[in-house]
Amino acid sequence: MARAKTKATNEATTETAAGVAAPVTGPCPCGLGRPYQECCGVYHQGRAAAPTAEALMRSRYSAFAVGDQPYLLRSWHPSTRPARLELDPAQRWVRLEVLSVQGGSAFHSEGSVEFRAYCREHGQEDVLHEHSRFVRDQGAWVYLDGEG
Ligand SMILES: [Zn+2]
Repeated sequence: MARAKTKATNEATTETAAGVAAPVTGPCPCGLGRPYQECCGVYHQGRAAAPTAEALMRSRYSAFAVGDQPYLLRSWHPSTRPARLELDPAQRWVRLEVLSVQGGSAFHSEGSVEFRAYCREHGQEDVLHEHSRFVRDQGAWVYLDGEG
């Protein structure tokens, strides 16, 4: 059966022709509805630290969406962080759904977030369903690991 055709919107893209991230304007990819520069951009640019595990998780999703590898690496726990990270420029992250959150507040040292992240690659939509675990490293929330 053919996939239903969705109407493409011609909004400004966050990528240049070379696939390099350009300065991001407009709503934050994480879906909270605030402008990127006042939302996850604050964490990406190091102007503040994500106060909760959920905020960190959203900021990491946004980092995938805008292609911010350095942020993904530095928000990863040193014990599980890969040496380097290649982002696939053909993969476009289109939507995030946070399904549940456990712990991860200002009063916790651990937390987990269950989410679905939707991406599109070569016209195919794919869904990543994951429970991610977060811990504090020197006070700041970092990603530890995740399972589907
Ligand atoms: Zn955001």
